[in-house]
Amino acid sequence: MEYVHDYLIIGGGMAADAAAKAIAEVERGANIGIVGDDPSPPYQRPPLSKALWKGDKSPADIDLATAKTGASFHLGRRIVSLDREAHVARDAQGDTYRYRRLLLATGATPRRLGFDGGERLIHYRTLADYEALRRFAKPGAHIAVIGGGFIGSELAASLCGIGCKVTMLFPGKSIGAGRYPDGLCAYLDAYYREHGVALRADTKVTGGRAVDGGVELELPAGETLRVDAVVAGIGVTPDTALAEQAGLAVDNGIVVDAQLRSSDADIWAAGDVANFHSVALDRRLRVEHEDAAIGMGRHAGRAMAGVAEDYVTQPFFYSDLFDLGYEAVGLLDTRLQVVEDWREPNREGVIYYLDGGRVRGVLLWNVWDQVDAARALLAEPGPFDAASLRGRLPAAG
Ligand code: NAP
Repeated sequence: MEYVHDYLIIGGGMAADAAAKAIAEVERGANIGIVGDDPSPPYQRPPLSKALWKGDKSPADIDLATAKTGASFHLGRRIVSLDREAHVARDAQGDTYRYRRLLLATGATPRRLGFDGGERLIHYRTLADYEALRRFAKPGAHIAVIGGGFIGSELAASLCGIGCKVTMLFPGKSIGAGRYPDGLCAYLDAYYREHGVALRADTKVTGGRAVDGGVELELPAGETLRVDAVVAGIGVTPDTALAEQAGLAVDNGIVVDAQLRSSDADIWAAGDVANFHSVALDRRLRVEHEDAAIGMGRHAGRAMAGVAEDYVTQPFFYSDLFDLGYEAVGLLDTRLQVVEDWREPNREGVIYYLDGGRVRGVLLWNVWDQVDAARALLAEPGPFDAASLRGRLPAAG
């Protein structure tokens, strides 16, 4: 079967949704096709580790209503090859999709642990993963959370909140190591322990297997840990296979220009998979957060429909960890110079990340309504230092 779409979007996540909406906004009645291997139409991803567990939202609430754009969905389909000259994509079942303009919003794939833990080992990414975990995460169930990054820290808190017994295992020295300053990491570790999470820092899981009604993990020095289920959030790799096969420029993601166009004039890329030049941060990067998926998707969609503007948005993200929460802009990387400005140590304050006197990241820890001010600070040339930043955003007061 051959489908013909003026605008074809490969990938069915948040970037795809934002692009379809932007195209439909610019060009009413546009012929848009979305091919995604996830069987669900686009949905909000952040609730998978947060709101769905708190009972604030149900799976029906997170649907993005992409259908309103009039787009045709080809879900549960994976595009396996792309003929750029012919402007044709082909899926694993042999169906083809002819396009005039194409968006690659293929996202990223979770890194996998190197063993087969059966259905009770979940590499967490999709709504189906949420539903699978929910089946095993009953009150009193013992769940191992592997990874101390975004997914690990958010899910451990969420699982605790519904009465699971949680053990977190990660290779780093603390939760959020490398992202938050040492004092805050130590505080977070203690906070998680107080909330009943068992922490196994400096611990790399070396293997494991499915056992009757659970998973047995192998830990260093011959130790084993038997749990009811395991959820892993150990990072992702951008889904660039299709772009590589098609001969597009790829370098830690699909390389795009200021308007998110790839090395092919009829192909754009957006979201986790796109590697763009950040003007504010003066470097190329990929951003694996909701705000970038939405913003880049929208931007690429507009560009595809003929409204080309430069993408200049600075990375923004947020997280909830029990009743702690934050918003952040730019890079959180403790290899940069870190300046801490606490109103109340580890409870409320602003942390700045500097590089050569320039602010490259701002962490607003339980500080709200300061995102625009933080963005403005990133745009300023400086130079800044600890003294000039203290009290700069209304944290210390
Ligand atoms: P992540 O935040 O990069 O964290 C990965 C974690 O896994 C790190 O703690 C890392 O430890 C650890 N790790 C790496 N290899 C490991 C291994 N073999 N065994 C055990 N641990 C290992 O990635 P994520 O938590 O998996 O999240 C996936 C994606 O979803 C990311 O792109 C993230 O940005 C996105 N996400 C974002 C949010 C948000 O914005 N709030 C929420 C959820 C997910 P080391 O650092 O010590 O290597």
